[in-house]
Amino acid sequence: MPLKQIELLAPAGDLERLKVDLLYGADAVYVGGEYFSLRANATNFSLEELKEGCDFAHQLGKKVYFTCNIVFHEEDRIKMQKDAYLEKVVEAGVDAFIMSDPFLIDFLHKKYPSLEVHVSTQDSITNYEEALFYQTLGAKRVVLARELSLLEIKEIIEKTNLEVEVFIHGAMCTCYSGRCALSSYVTNRDPNRGGCSQVCRFAFTTQEDGKFTLATKDLNLAPYIKQLIEIGVKSFKVEGRMRSIYYLATVIGTYRKLMDRILDGTLDETFVKKAYQTLSRVANRPTSSHYLLKEADDEDQYYTGRQELSNQDFVGLVQEYDGTHLKLLLRNYLQMGEQVELFTAEGKEYCFPVTLLLDAEKNEIQAANHPDEIYFLPVSLPKTMSITAYSMLRKCI
Ligand code: SF4
Repeated sequence: MPLKQIELLAPAGDLERLKVDLLYGADAVYVGGEYFSLRANATNFSLEELKEGCDFAHQLGKKVYFTCNIVFHEEDRIKMQKDAYLEKVVEAGVDAFIMSDPFLIDFLHKKYPSLEVHVSTQDSITNYEEALFYQTLGAKRVVLARELSLLEIKEIIEKTNLEVEVFIHGAMCTCYSGRCALSSYVTNRDPNRGGCSQVCRFAFTTQEDGKFTLATKDLNLAPYIKQLIEIGVKSFKVEGRMRSIYYLATVIGTYRKLMDRILDGTLDETFVKKAYQTLSRVANRPTSSHYLLKEADDEDQYYTGRQELSNQDFVGLVQEYDGTHLKLLLRNYLQMGEQVELFTAEGKEYCFPVTLLLDAEKNEIQAANHPDEIYFLPVSLPKTMSITAYSMLRKCI
């Protein structure tokens, strides 16, 4: 497979996230609509927004995949066909559907044979015969179960001619993805129809041992991207349609640079270390590689989930630079003397100390502490650095 066809695939819960993902280097995004997607709590896309998102992506030569991967009950099937919903989604311009129900895959493929269908991780594909079965239904790509080893992934790639997509980053389910009913029992919200209340991350109490959670650590395969490319993985998927734009800009921007350096042969240990540090800093849970090199075990579990980190690194969105001052829409507290880093969608970064801080009326202040208000930071940026859409400021690592 030509290396340039390797894809970085990002989650987009709304139009703004879609834009941030694509500007920060994703080749494609996956989104959900108002129905039939597994993130009922995400803002999700109306048909109009979907069209706008597809137009935006296509102008950049990038793609939009539409997830339709809930467990389909009869009422869902009737609604879908009555509203001709999938047909409307096709008209909006999506490039592929991510589906799990064999009926839906078959239905869509027969109706639109040239439209790509990707089989969702909800189907927990763990062997090549299963992958080949979905190919007979018309699937072009399989999103493998997250619970596979490197060797198992390699075997599926070698024994099929399907495109293979793997999750590389983000939250994991304690069960095989999509096989959990914990949320239904405890909170009456069905995780397999978009309602997961993340019960596994609640802090439970036992009399002997104090508090514990059922959650796992998050996934982080940054150190293994080169190996995954070498065995033929086609698409690298990041989890998290409800993550913030700061999280997406950081994670997608980091993987973009990592993949580019692997593909052009300029990757070195220093960069891998820095990338891993950046990804860990933006996460709110510890991470591991889970099943990739061994069976997941208690080292990959996250018993003490109450210690989730609250990340205040994101200082704000940079709105413009007039040659002397950055105009900043504040998100988190900033004070004089702190070291901050400007980063842009083009992958440029610049660290500097806050030596002067001004409020919206350009009065000198000691600290900026009102989120969503405008502040100004005097700084002399290098000539190579230009402010592009969704440039951001964070605390220096
Ligand atoms: S409760 Fe936890 S394990 Fe179950 S679906 Fe939700 S995130 Fe996954």
